[in-house]
Amino acid sequence: MLTDQELLRYSRQILLQHVDIDGQLRLKNSRALIIGLGGLGAPVALYLAAAGVGELHVADFDTVDLTNLQRQIIHDTDSVGQTKVDSALRRLTAINPEITLVAHRSALDADSLAAAVSAVDVVLDCSDNFSTREAVNAACVAAAKPLISGAAIRLEGQLSVFDPRRADSPCYYCLYGHGSDTELTCSEAGVVGPLVGLVGSLQALEALKLLAGFGEPLVGRLLLIDALTTRFRELRVKRDPGCAVCGTQHG
Ligand SMILES: [Zn+2]
Repeated sequence: MLTDQELLRYSRQILLQHVDIDGQLRLKNSRALIIGLGGLGAPVALYLAAAGVGELHVADFDTVDLTNLQRQIIHDTDSVGQTKVDSALRRLTAINPEITLVAHRSALDADSLAAAVSAVDVVLDCSDNFSTREAVNAACVAAAKPLISGAAIRLEGQLSVFDPRRADSPCYYCLYGHGSDTELTCSEAGVVGPLVGLVGSLQALEALKLLAGFGEPLVGRLLLIDALTTRFRELRVKRDPGCAVCGTQHG
């Protein structure tokens, strides 16, 4: 049940017929795992905490650096030198003390990643490198958990949702195949803050839709954002029956 305080706190989204009290209760009983508390993970964590997702699991093994603050808006100047997890927990608790926060402070290996993914209802990949994204995707396919994947670099953003519970859904590997970490990351190539904020906000929105059960998720579609011209494009993405990660699962 929702307390009077919760009814008031979340009243502006409960007002929406698509959410209502049932949807808010579903959010309260939901658990989300956020991998990475950088430029994407910052708005994801802030919005999911504010919206009342009952359990937020956050994973990051990095510390806050001064160069992060231009885009990683969950951290502030006083956070520099702290772990990103501790910095984020302080901010998330201040925003919403009603929710439960679970911290993963060390790098996740295959076993701990599988356990972390199994413990939640949805996973948000907010990391900045291919090897993490591939490992997270494999864990989500194995545990049949939906994965909301976002990326932003320079002035381009990408977003898609992979849902292994659906037979028609591709996985991250169907789309990208085996990537290479020789690709530049944001910290090497540069990125504008509002673009990662935009992609992260859309990831949070997709999570709320999946968890509360409304709308049409971005499954089988890849959203491409060109910040330079403010143009959004959408590509259809099909499941690859021969995919090395999800191919055998569905036969
Ligand atoms: Zn696949």
